[in-house]
Amino acid sequence: MLVAATTSPAVGSFHLSRSPSSRGMPRVTMAVRSNVVSVGSILTKLQQDCATPLPVIRHVADAMTVDMRAGLAVDGGSDLKMILSYVDSLPSGNEKGLFYALDLGGTNLRALRVQLGGKEERVIATEFEQLSIPQELMFGTSEELFDFIASTLAGFAEKEGEKFHLPRGRQREIGFTFSFPVKQTSIDSGILMKWTKGFSVSGTAGRDVVACLNEAMERQGLDMRVSALVNDTVGTLAGARYWDDDVMVAVILGTGTNACYVERTDSIPKLQGSKSSSGRTIINTEWGAFSNGIPLTVFDRDMDAASINPGEQIFEKTISGMYLGEIARRALLTMAEEGSLFGMSVPKKLSTPFALRTPDICAMQLDISDDLQAVGSILHNVAGVESSLSARRTVLGVCDAIVKRGGRLAGAGIVGILQKMEEDSKGVIFNKRTVVAMDGGLYEHYPQYRRYLQDAVNELLGLEISKNIVIEHSKDGSGIGAALLAATNSKYDHDF
Ligand code: ADP
Ligand code: MG
Repeated sequence: MLVAATTSPAVGSFHLSRSPSSRGMPRVTMAVRSNVVSVGSILTKLQQDCATPLPVIRHVADAMTVDMRAGLAVDGGSDLKMILSYVDSLPSGNEKGLFYALDLGGTNLRALRVQLGGKEERVIATEFEQLSIPQELMFGTSEELFDFIASTLAGFAEKEGEKFHLPRGRQREIGFTFSFPVKQTSIDSGILMKWTKGFSVSGTAGRDVVACLNEAMERQGLDMRVSALVNDTVGTLAGARYWDDDVMVAVILGTGTNACYVERTDSIPKLQGSKSSSGRTIINTEWGAFSNGIPLTVFDRDMDAASINPGEQIFEKTISGMYLGEIARRALLTMAEEGSLFGMSVPKKLSTPFALRTPDICAMQLDISDDLQAVGSILHNVAGVESSLSARRTVLGVCDAIVKRGGRLAGAGIVGILQKMEEDSKGVIFNKRTVVAMDGGLYEHYPQYRRYLQDAVNELLGLEISKNIVIEHSKDGSGIGAALLAATNSKYDHDF
């Protein structure tokens, strides 16, 4: 930890070193006047480096389209894996019966059950439970993680009340939402390619995650069956489509980010042989791995270098909830170290990776008071500093630059997907109502981020077309969606 040696402002204005390589060495900080200049110049540089004017987001949207095509042509053809979901038919509304869903996100584990009543009754009853994933399990063994999932499910299943009915002799079926890159091998099996979002669990990569869950359920003595393995985006698309036939794309903006969409099978060169009867299938883009033309700052590069997956998931690292707060913290730490943003010493708390969370920067941006009191108290809690009004304004400038880039790039990504679909089926996307279903804690809770996202979409598509594109929150769609896909892929006879 750097401890800045302080000089009295009266002594004069000088500065021994600004280079990051001098970290850890005692140094003399600057006097007030040059501090202001320094903090201001760091902010200006940050704003320039992460600026997303129209040509930049246009490039990102176009590059997204190009990368999608390359990933559809051949496996490994692009940063975007364009994974086949094996979901060829979406829920119709006729689904009936009791189904479970399990959702392993980047932060939370959710279990859900739903009693479906068909077209007339729709969702008769639903119940869910949510737990945060204990930190140590993110770095433990595969068995430990899946035992935790299975025991959570067992505890939840035990509490099944009278509103839920399973016909005699049937096993309870689960839609398993697994929000990490999986190479799907069928609707109910898939190999984990790699962990993301800070997870580093040993012994899962290269294994079928459904087999991992089945083994853990056996260890628990739990008699349930996974009938659909779904990505969270695919679950969201299915859940939203259940209510609205115009849903064509789903995007998750939570701890991490991803998107999926309805693709024509004749637009998927790498799909040989097994064409679906509907002529459509859902493609999971795994767009978090996209990287082409993203404006990056020194703080992004440093955060990436310190991450467990350097050089990977660059789009995810610039737009998703796990990272926005951390990029801001790194910028503020540099401002504190090099420009004495919070006075002459550098607050220790501010040096702790991930101490500033995205919900914190969201709460700060919501502060519209004259003296930015909420900003001050969050900075106090998170960084242990007393801040001047001008420091608070600077902090908001940092947050805004990072959130603006995140929201606008996410919007550009959405346009990239829509324009790819439109190119292949003229008029089908842009000339009619098309819905993009959104979910995830970041999208749900961050109004400023949502506004920036929508602005970018409007700028890129123009007023006429963007009127047809409805970007809307699909609350908890992914849980119900996974249960619906479990129903569609049930091993028992059904007439829906
Ligand atoms: P998961 O990614 O585990 O599926 P969520 O979709 O609920 O979980 O997303 C959780 C993430 O959403 C958090 O990591 C955080 O980055 C972001 N988030 C949660 N609440 C807020 C908030 N109030 N403001 C901004 N971001 C938030
Ligand atoms: Mg999730």
